[in-house]
Amino acid sequence: MTRNRSVGDDERAIDGGGTDTDYDVVETPVLVIGAGAAGARTAISLAENGVLPLVIGKRGHGDAHTTWAAGGINAALGSRDLEDSPAIHAADTLNEGHFLNDPAGVETVTDVMSDRIRELEEWGTPFNTTDDGAVEQRYFGAQSFRRTCFVGDRTGEAILETLIGKAQELGVPYRENVQITKLLSDGERVYGALGYDMENGSYRCFRAGAVVLAAGGYSAVYDRHSSRDEENNGDGPALAYDAGARLMDAEFVQFHPTGMVGERYGEQWEGRLVTEAVRGEGGYLFNAEGERFMERYSPEQMELDARDVVARAIAREIAENRGTENGGVYLDISHREQSFIKERLPSMYERFAELGVDLAEEPVEVAPTAHYSMGGVDIDFETGETGVEGLYAVGETTAGIHGANRLGGNSLAETVALGKIVGDHLAEEGFADLPALPASQKRLAEEHFAGLEAMAGEGSEDPEHLIEELGDLLETYAGILREEGGLSEGLDALADLRERAGDLAGGERTSRSFEYAVDLGFSLTVAEAVLRGARERRESRGAHFRTDFEGKREEWRRNLLYERSLEGMSLETRVPGEPSSAIQEALDAGYELDYHQLE
Ligand SMILES: Cc1cc2nc3c(=O)[nH]c(=O)nc-3n(C[C@H](O)[C@H](O)[C@H](O)COP(=O)(O)OP(=O)(O)OC[C@H]3O[C@@H](n4cnc5c(N)ncnc54)[C@H](O)[C@@H]3O)c2cc1C
Repeated sequence: MTRNRSVGDDERAIDGGGTDTDYDVVETPVLVIGAGAAGARTAISLAENGVLPLVIGKRGHGDAHTTWAAGGINAALGSRDLEDSPAIHAADTLNEGHFLNDPAGVETVTDVMSDRIRELEEWGTPFNTTDDGAVEQRYFGAQSFRRTCFVGDRTGEAILETLIGKAQELGVPYRENVQITKLLSDGERVYGALGYDMENGSYRCFRAGAVVLAAGGYSAVYDRHSSRDEENNGDGPALAYDAGARLMDAEFVQFHPTGMVGERYGEQWEGRLVTEAVRGEGGYLFNAEGERFMERYSPEQMELDARDVVARAIAREIAENRGTENGGVYLDISHREQSFIKERLPSMYERFAELGVDLAEEPVEVAPTAHYSMGGVDIDFETGETGVEGLYAVGETTAGIHGANRLGGNSLAETVALGKIVGDHLAEEGFADLPALPASQKRLAEEHFAGLEAMAGEGSEDPEHLIEELGDLLETYAGILREEGGLSEGLDALADLRERAGDLAGGERTSRSFEYAVDLGFSLTVAEAVLRGARERRESRGAHFRTDFEGKREEWRRNLLYERSLEGMSLETRVPGEPSSAIQEALDAGYELDYHQLE
């Protein structure tokens, strides 16, 4: 049974906790799935152009992963370094991405970033400023000039507050705590999305003229990750793939070298970042045998080498049994005075002090942690189109801007730059009439809700437990060091896990366990793409490292695309475009990337 409602109706009164599959239908011209920076910026553009979208998030409004972005957002403003330009920003991005990025997409982002920063400032983002009032800029990650704008160490939070404030001012409606579980699609066109209200369990069918996926990335499919828990499980890419869109470059996952590890700190701290500034301020890395092992891998740069070099070195030490009992290595800055550490690393000092560790007295245990997913939905960067009519994607859910490795500060840039472009494009399309919902889509909705009903039942597998197993599986077979045999074993193990996932005890729809059951489905799809892509790509490039194929191979300057087919997941490749003459000139000028630890 269905009930029709428009976006403004109060849906809180519905009791959906029963066992039937009644659902409410909500109609909107554009459904934006995701209320992080990417979704919010897209919604603003739509609203400014006269189209009010409905924005959905699976947490409270304003409570998206974006709030954790601390370091900053990149734009070639030239506040500090006049020589900087959007073309040099693009050249840096391509260099760090090992030329797997979409050069035109990168240029689109870098060209508009000064405008996006000015606009954010105008809307109220309190960026740090120089003495003469310009937006302050600093180094962050690998850059040839200082181009990262920041709001202390809460840039993401401040930007999201601004965007949400602006969206509310424009009257953009939103629904919080709704999890989308499937897109209504016949593989050619998208008609809307299905999901459930996480507070009261009732089912929802959103009919929409267009759907924008802004649902974040997939780094949390790994057991140790730096992301917020229960986010970045791959919802966006998996929903798009299921609806008939293509994924790209899923094998590229950026690992931060120093995530917290060890029971001593408690489970909630597992994988959380220990800022690279600890190494920047003189911290040493030791293995369990007391060796300062970076001498073996990077005798000149030592602990200050690039993020991927240090992460690989740590992974090797652990793989070759020179790690600690907890599967980490030691990061030690205790040779510095306590006063120095307190002054230069105040929040790190405080965090560890609260956990009973004095950084001035003893080392901490760290191991690489999955930090950012470069892969995702394959889109057209001029429009956000996915190739499935009516389906668009934006933000960390997509692939193509960061190539084989992401520059710190570029992901926030991508969210606002492309959010505006996608919103503007969609508004131009006009969505006066919703497409009629074919009978096949109504059946699809009913079957899907019946499937969710069954998932809540009395199966024998605990979804949370399977998610943990999946995380371990990826760490083991598709972590930093990868090789053919292990990746094949990983795919076999994944097939077993998938079979067990068919017998879940999901529990009440309002329970965390039910959410885990839904997340598991998304994560299994993305995990398969990571494993297949990593096995297919017989080279080492950026964040993808094959111990059996060390080094980059020119013939592999190709993007890997994953598509659903009758036989399962099919893979093909595509050669990325070439940079424009302006970017080529910047590349030829040979600006050097300097690595600065911050995040
Ligand atoms: C610790 C850390 C620090 C970082 N620091 C920086 C930095 O300094 N600079 C930088 O540029 N980048 C940084 N990043 C990366 C950056 O935070 C993200 O790439 C960016 O915030 C992604 O924004 P987004 O809008 O695409 O997705 P998100 O902010 O992840 O938002 C996703 C939205 O989708 C919703 N959603 C997801 N699934 C569903 C579903 N099934 N149904 C309904 N809603 C759903 C969520 O509730 C949320 O509202 C950092 C990342 C980490 C982990």
